[in-house]
Amino acid sequence: MANKPKKVVRSWVKERVAFDRELKDDKFYNSWPWRKARKAFINKNPLCVHCEENGEVTAATVVDHKIPIKQGGEPLNESNFQSLCEKCHNKKSANESRGYGVKSR
Ligand SMILES: [Zn+2]
Repeated sequence: MANKPKKVVRSWVKERVAFDRELKDDKFYNSWPWRKARKAFINKNPLCVHCEENGEVTAATVVDHKIPIKQGGEPLNESNFQSLCEKCHNKKSANESRGYGVKSR
């Protein structure tokens, strides 16, 4: 058998290295424990909590950390999770990157 070495294109490797400095939590978000916890949580909490507060019913697509991991939030503790739809999640992320301290309550 002639085993020709397959050429694997790994253009993403470079990208990852470049991102690595900044995105330590990226590794976390790709980790199995997180994916498992996320899936279990969204199954139990399928609706966006922000929309729900406003009397709307929207399917959640994102499990968000109430306290971001970067700010010391527990990464795998369900009490730090909340289900959000993409719109609310984007809004929240935008707020967080603009500056912290806007508490909803
Ligand atoms: Zn929402």
